[in-house]
Amino acid sequence: MTLNEYKIAFKNQLAHIYPEQEALSILQILCEDLLNWSRTDFLFKNKEALTHLQREILDKSLEKLMQHEPVQHITGIAHFFGEQFKVSQDTLVPRQETEELVDWIIKDHQKLSPKTIMDIGTGTGCIGLSLGLAFAKAQISLADVSKMTLEITKKNAANLHLVERIKLVQIDILRAESIPEADIIVSNPPYVRDMEKVEIQKNVLDYEPHLALFVSDDDPLIFYRKIMQLALPSLQNGGLLYFEINQYLSDEMKSLASDLGLTFELKKDLNGNWRMMKCWL
Ligand code: GLN
Repeated sequence: MTLNEYKIAFKNQLAHIYPEQEALSILQILCEDLLNWSRTDFLFKNKEALTHLQREILDKSLEKLMQHEPVQHITGIAHFFGEQFKVSQDTLVPRQETEELVDWIIKDHQKLSPKTIMDIGTGTGCIGLSLGLAFAKAQISLADVSKMTLEITKKNAANLHLVERIKLVQIDILRAESIPEADIIVSNPPYVRDMEKVEIQKNVLDYEPHLALFVSDDDPLIFYRKIMQLALPSLQNGGLLYFEINQYLSDEMKSLASDLGLTFELKKDLNGNWRMMKCWL
């Protein structure tokens, strides 16, 4: 079977789960990450026959995709801000919206050189470690409640040669009384309300850690309120606080920040949803 024939069969098998273009991108990721192909290989090998081993690897992956397993769980890595991050069932798969948050922070600090950064609920470490690469002098604290998650964070820090500038902090932020001061505090905490579960796709719902995703309908901003309070001493010293936020709760986020006396700015993601917030004093 040629690559081109395989592309068609692959798209058809996944048609009930992924639109054509997305299925093709997934196949491309599999070829690049599991078969070590280059981007151009995927475009130009169309008439070549796949080897038996290549077929075997792709077919096995296709089976998992049909069970709604995310491609990043199949390959074990996610691409984020130009780097590769190891993922597991204990980490959220880094999202494009989160790349936009990182981009915002970096652009804000082009002429500054932040010395201390804290990423709360770090997961893979994708936010904090990407900032670590962008700001060569910064010390980065990566905090997460889960020990298992921090094992993955640590591996990613090592892969990116950032071990010397990072500190891993295991902390249940809701119980914390204080956090060290930092120039930048950033968090992508759980923010999907239980009532929104019906909108969440099976590949997320069945495979990604609910601990990193969901909050109760009663108090969906619980993490934000707590982090804002903990960040106050940093903000008093000129620090900035950045969040990824729930698109449906931007008004509530504004009230929360105002109530605490914070000044803020909200930003939409590329899909046009209110997705990011910056707070300062
Ligand atoms: N954006 C994520 C999603 O796919 C949610 C991330 C989060 O809860 N922090 O639903």
